[in-house]
Amino acid sequence: MTEREANGGRPHAVVIGGGIAGLTAARQLLRGGARVTVLEGSPDIGGKLRVSEVGGIPVDEGAEAMLARRPEGLELVRDLGRAGDLVHPGTTSSAIFSHGALRPLPSGQVMGVPSDLAALARAQVLSPMGLARVPLDLVLPATPRGASDVSVADYVGARLGREVVDRLVEPLLGGVYAGRVEELSFEATMASVAVASRSHRSLISAVRGIRQAAPGNPGPVFATLAGGLGSLPHLVADAITAGGGTVRTGAMVRGLRRTPTGWRLTVGPARSPEYLDADAVVVAVPAAPAARLLADEVPAASRELARIDYASMAIVTLVYPVSAFPRLPRVSGYLVPAVEGREVKAVTFSSVKWPHLRESAPDLIAVRCSIGRYGEEHTLQRSDDDLRAAAVTELAVTCGLDELPIACRVTRWGGGLPQYNVGHADVVARIRAAVAGQPGLAVAGAAYDGLGIPACIATARAAATRVLEHLDSRGELSHGSDGEGEQAQGAGPEPGDPLHDVVGIPGEDPR
Ligand SMILES: Cc1cc2nc3c(=O)[nH]c(=O)nc-3n(C[C@H](O)[C@H](O)[C@H](O)COP(=O)(O)OP(=O)(O)OC[C@H]3O[C@@H](n4cnc5c(N)ncnc54)[C@H](O)[C@@H]3O)c2cc1C
Repeated sequence: MTEREANGGRPHAVVIGGGIAGLTAARQLLRGGARVTVLEGSPDIGGKLRVSEVGGIPVDEGAEAMLARRPEGLELVRDLGRAGDLVHPGTTSSAIFSHGALRPLPSGQVMGVPSDLAALARAQVLSPMGLARVPLDLVLPATPRGASDVSVADYVGARLGREVVDRLVEPLLGGVYAGRVEELSFEATMASVAVASRSHRSLISAVRGIRQAAPGNPGPVFATLAGGLGSLPHLVADAITAGGGTVRTGAMVRGLRRTPTGWRLTVGPARSPEYLDADAVVVAVPAAPAARLLADEVPAASRELARIDYASMAIVTLVYPVSAFPRLPRVSGYLVPAVEGREVKAVTFSSVKWPHLRESAPDLIAVRCSIGRYGEEHTLQRSDDDLRAAAVTELAVTCGLDELPIACRVTRWGGGLPQYNVGHADVVARIRAAVAGQPGLAVAGAAYDGLGIPACIATARAAATRVLEHLDSRGELSHGSDGEGEQAQGAGPEPGDPLHDVVGIPGEDPR
C-alpha cells in the first residue's frame, strides 16, 4: 500500500511555518480535503503571536490587537467557536509626545494626515511654523508623481510640510512598521490615502473624502482575545489536530525541491535530515527564510524576497501598582516621533486599553513600551536591564512614576517587521508571478500584502485556495471543501478601508 493509499487517498499538503498565516492556510487545506502537515521550526507555534504572564497578568509579547474593521481576523475567531472570547478596547484615544509634552492625537487624521485643521491647531503637536505650512496643501499645484511609487516622506512632505511627516505620519507608521518614512512606500503603507490622493490635488481633501465615505457606525476599531492574541494560534492548531492534521514544532525546513509528482522537503538538522514528500506546499515564513527555501526551484522569487528588509524591535512590559501613578492614564497609549530623540517609540497602557486586564488585576497597571526602529539596531544591542531602564525612565518622565515596576519582561523581535519600502507592490507582484509558474506552490504571510493579522489571514486563504485548485485540477481531492466559513478570497490590501492595516498602535476611530 502506498503512503497516499494509507491516508485514504488524500493528497498531502505541507505548510512551512506555524505563524498565524501558516496555521490558517493549513486549516483551510484540511477542510478542503487535503492531508495536512504544518512544520514549525521553533519550539512553539505562533510566530509573532505569543502571550505570557507578567506580574500575573497575561500580556501579549508580540501582536496585541487586530483590526476589527477588516473581517478576516474576527471571522477566524468566530469560526473557531470563540466569538465569546473577543474583547474590544475600553478607549482608543491616544497621544503623541511632541515638543516635550504629551499632546492629543488630533482628531480627523488618517495615518497622520490631517483633515481638520482646527483640531490640528488645538492638539499643538506641530510648531507654529509647521502648522502654518499645512494649509498650503489646499492651494499648491498637484505634486507630480506619475504611475510609480514614491516614499511617504517625499509625497506627504511635499504636500503638508516636513513637520507633519516627522511628528504625525512617522510615529503612526513607526507603530506599525518601525520603518523610515524616507524609505517606506506611500502606496503600500498608506494605501487608502494614496488611492484617494490620485483623485485629489490636495492631500487634506483626499483624507476628508475618505472620512466622509467611512460608514456611520462601523463598530470597534480593534479586537483581541480575552486570553491574549497569542492564544489564537493555539486555538487554530487545536482545530487542525482535531480535524486530523499534524502540527509539528522543532521541525526546521532547510530544503525544498521539485519531484516528478510534487515536492520534497528537507527537515531538521543537516547531520540527521528527514525527507518529507508533499503534493503541494505553502511557504508561510518571513521573507529571508522564504528566499532561502525558494532559491533552487524559484530563483526569481527568491531574489525578490531577499530584497524585503526587516526591522528589529523589543517590547518591554512593565507592571506597576496602581498607586504608583500620580494620575491614571486616560489614553490607550502614546507615540514618540523619532525626531524627539527618545529611545522608546510607543507606549501602550495595556490595562487602560483593555478593560479585561484591569478587571483581572484591579490593583495593577501593565504597560508595554516599544523600542527599536529600522536602521537603529544599536539601540537593541544592549542588555535586558538597559532596555528595562530605558522604559522605566520613559514612564518616569511622561507619567511621573517614581517607583520601580513590580514585574518586567523584555521580548526581543529580531527581524520582526517587514519593511514595505518604495516599490514593494512591484516586488510582491514579481514574487507572485514567479510562484504562479510552480504548480502546487503558494506563499503567504506578513511579507506581502499587509503585516496586520487580518491581512496575513487573507494571504493564507488565498494561498490555500490556490493549492486546493491545483490539487482539484489533478483530480486528487475526493471530497473538496466542506463549505465552512473560510472562503476563497483575494489577498490584496483593501485600499478602501481608511485604516488599511494600522494595527496594534494607539489609534483613533477614523470617523
Ligand atoms: C512586536 C510586534 C507587534 C505586533 N503587533 C501587531 C498588532 O498589534 N496587530 C497586528 O495585527 N499585527 C501586529 N504585528 C504584526 C503581526 O504580528 C505579524 O505580521 C504576523 O503575526 C505575522 O504572521 P506570519 O504567519 O506571516 O509570520 P510569523 O508570525 O513570522 O510566523 C512564521 C513562522 O515560520 C517559522 N519559520 C521560519 N522559518 C522556518 C523554516 N525554515 N521552517 C519552519 N518554520 C520556519 C517561524 O519560526 C515562525 O513561527 C506585530 C508584530 C510584532 C513583531
